[in-house]
Amino acid sequence: MRLSRYFLPTLKENPADAQIVSHRYMLRAGMIKQQSAGIYSWLPLGFKVLRKIENIVHEEQAKAGHIAMQMPTLQSADLWRESGRYDGYGEEMLRMQDRHGRDMLFSPTAEELFTDVFRSHVTSYKDLPLTLYQIQWKFRDEIRPRFGVMRGREFYMKDGYNFDLTKEDALHAYNRHLVSYLRTYERMGLQAIPMRADSGPIGGDDTHEFLVLADTGESEVFYDSEITDLKFGDREIDFDNVDQCQAVLEEFTSRYARTDETHDEAVFNEVPEERRRVARGIEVGQIFYFGTKYSDAMGAKVQGPDGKPVAVHMGSHGIGVSRLLGAIIEASHDDKGIIWPEGVTPFHVGILNMKQGDDEADAACDALYNSFTALGLEPLYDDRNERAGGKFANMDLIGLPWRITVGPRGLKNGVVELTSRRTGESEELPPEQAVARVAEIYKGIA
Ligand code: ATP
Ligand code: MG
Repeated sequence: MRLSRYFLPTLKENPADAQIVSHRYMLRAGMIKQQSAGIYSWLPLGFKVLRKIENIVHEEQAKAGHIAMQMPTLQSADLWRESGRYDGYGEEMLRMQDRHGRDMLFSPTAEELFTDVFRSHVTSYKDLPLTLYQIQWKFRDEIRPRFGVMRGREFYMKDGYNFDLTKEDALHAYNRHLVSYLRTYERMGLQAIPMRADSGPIGGDDTHEFLVLADTGESEVFYDSEITDLKFGDREIDFDNVDQCQAVLEEFTSRYARTDETHDEAVFNEVPEERRRVARGIEVGQIFYFGTKYSDAMGAKVQGPDGKPVAVHMGSHGIGVSRLLGAIIEASHDDKGIIWPEGVTPFHVGILNMKQGDDEADAACDALYNSFTALGLEPLYDDRNERAGGKFANMDLIGLPWRITVGPRGLKNGVVELTSRRTGESEELPPEQAVARVAEIYKGIA
């Protein structure tokens, strides 16, 4: 993309009402525009990152054997009356009536709809196990929407639902989700720690939240510092392998890590003092096992191996896709702007022309642009007729992890400059080598 032809409405000044850094940078970098409290338009740059995050979620879900589909955002109240949640959900649920006076609502989550689809089409235990999911807009009329996309009213969420014959099978689904989520967050350059949590209005016994440590996080968390040394890495996992998934769960959840809702001072004090940490975290996901709560209420049964009907065991699993943009920026920025991890960056590399209109510099930038494009990488070429200082500040703000600076002086010596946004380190090298270096970095990522 050539910046002169893109739509990137950046702001020079810090927006007054943005209290946390991710919100400030998302507004300044022209990623979002607030339309009303907690409701945003996603401008091209923000939309691009949202799509990248969404794609990672889809890819990892597919590896775990989960099946994507899509539910409507506007739902009839009837199903929610069946589950008993229509009255229970409270003021966070946005309710409305259609022209016939029928009660409708904007989905805050979708256990009811998935359970309904399941009971309409699945009749035998032979069709299990089954995990269906969607990535879809949700609406919760939060009392205090704030911090930009972190606590919106309209937000984008992956929500998945497993249907299993037995409790053991459903617990395997739980473990499988935990493993797959660890991988999902790591691909986004994030460390998200599974912590024992409280189940809230979804209900159920087993639940973990995934938290990204950040001072601006809304949750208070208590953990054993050893947990931050754990990495999922690129280990191979067979998601059907019960023992393997169980082992990963144990590895990542055996140390003390809890949110304030489940925190137990006495148990925490058993952790050696020098490893006890009290910090803040951003909840980027949660997994639940809740047994037959919804299948009992809504009659989601299958014929078991003995011919008798059995209520299926279920769980649900959520990832805050739009919140993740904020969480990633909170975890990865400096005083000049965002620093995107390679896995989610909106463009792979920035090309900065120091002297637009100089034939040689323009030609070198075009050549770089074409080389990257031919390799399937997306460059953002700042080809505007602006002074170099403004171009540098803009590139730093929008946070592409790699930048190539092209100027007449370097070109005389046959070199351009490759700079890492994260470390600020630069290296001069011939253009072809700069392209090869960037291509190497993105191998297996882009
Ligand atoms: P919270 O405790 O932050 O209100 P929740 O526990 O009610 O969230 P879940 O029902 O677990 O949320 O939803 C799954 C994920 O959706 C959460 O882990 C979070 O990342 C995201 N999410 C929830 N509410 C919001 C919101 N208002 N704005 C943006 N993302 C949200
Ligand atoms: Mg939650």
